[in-house]
Amino acid sequence: MTKIQMTTPLVEMDGDEMTRIIWQMIKDELLLPYIDLKTEYYDLGLPERERTKDQVTVDSAEATKKYGVAVKCATITPNAQRVEEYRLSQMWKSPNGTIRAILDGTVFRAPIMVRGISPVVKTWKHPITIARHAYGDVYRCTEYRVPGPGRAELVFTGADGKEEFRQTVYDFECSGVLQGQYNKDSSIASFARSCFQYAIDTKQDLWFATKDTISKQYDHTFKDIFQAIFDAEYKAAFDALGIEYFYTLIDDAVARVIRSQGGFIWACKNYDGDVMSDMVSSAFGSLAMMTSVLVSPAGVYEYEAAHGTVQRHYYKHLEGKETSTNSVATIFAWSGALRKRGELDELPDLVAFADRLEAATLATIEAGEMTGDLARITTLPNPVTLSTGEFISAIAKRLAA
Ligand code: NAP
Ligand code: MG
Repeated sequence: MTKIQMTTPLVEMDGDEMTRIIWQMIKDELLLPYIDLKTEYYDLGLPERERTKDQVTVDSAEATKKYGVAVKCATITPNAQRVEEYRLSQMWKSPNGTIRAILDGTVFRAPIMVRGISPVVKTWKHPITIARHAYGDVYRCTEYRVPGPGRAELVFTGADGKEEFRQTVYDFECSGVLQGQYNKDSSIASFARSCFQYAIDTKQDLWFATKDTISKQYDHTFKDIFQAIFDAEYKAAFDALGIEYFYTLIDDAVARVIRSQGGFIWACKNYDGDVMSDMVSSAFGSLAMMTSVLVSPAGVYEYEAAHGTVQRHYYKHLEGKETSTNSVATIFAWSGALRKRGELDELPDLVAFADRLEAATLATIEAGEMTGDLARITTLPNPVTLSTGEFISAIAKRLAA
């Protein structure tokens, strides 16, 4: 059998712990037998980030800019405990944060739906993809614990030193709290473009919601920037595809989402996205069935699983015990990246392989063969719980058939 050829390399970002183990199994059993895999490899595992003083993370993001598509394994974001465990010279920053800052992208999270794992919300028939604006607002705010009576003011001084704006926020008669938030037009515009682009790529409606009736400057600016960019740059393409851009108030959006059938992208401001992505992912069943793709406004894509390195399973694995770690989201990260590479390079065989890999993965679960996390929640009768390796081998068997 001749293997599928690639023309442009895929940027491959390896990672840590249990997902690093899965990564190798996926390549060996599901990809390398079928594809003459061309990747530019970056090891984002913590030891290599330490050795290169995190330069490898920056290099991998730059390579993604150059080639356009990356696939990333889950990585450890160090905390104090990890600094000790890996004897780190520094508490290196989150690789995802570093990559996102370089690509200026938006993260889209979508559940993988499969027969036998039913969403908690009965009406949801199709995935709901959440796009979170991961910049500013309460995540970059300035806060003050007001000790007692006094005046709080909002002041803006222009670059020329001239005071442009001053308004009393509140005349405190007692102690209280105070917060200053900001966002930038450029960041909101990037977010809007990534969302419109991804809606076109995936041929889905785009919903966006803020609280513009209450927040007449701050939230209204988000609404206005989205609308202006839509009208000027994307409306024609949306019309041609028969998809819709729909803006509403955030509380109305929440009510509509619950009653919807799914099948759309929901763009959220930073805090809404933080909260709603956890609600939507748990309502769809399992974090292990959630994919994630970072899309830059320039049209660069980085695919990964939404979950972490599954540390608890890795420690079991190190003790020589059998694990049952779900590899579906990591497999879909690979299939997503290969499909996109195939689309960009006009390689229909590669696109078809991505479809077959996903179909084989879902067929395995639908045949009742799954990892423990799914076996616990499935509505299928008599599911068989497979180990980490057995599950990937079961998919390999279907792929070969
Ligand atoms: P996690 O890796 O997402 O796992 C948390 C728990 O969720 C697991 O212990 C497991 O539950 C369940 N789970 C998650 N993925 C699973 C899978 N594929 N199959 C089966 N069960 C799964 O989060 P964590 O253990 O809190 O974090 C571990 C490391 O991941 C941290 O160092 C963190 O920094 C990193 N992290 C990285 C990313 C990323 O690179 N995108 C994202 C999040 C976290 P049970 O133990 O009950 O089986
Ligand atoms: Mg959250």
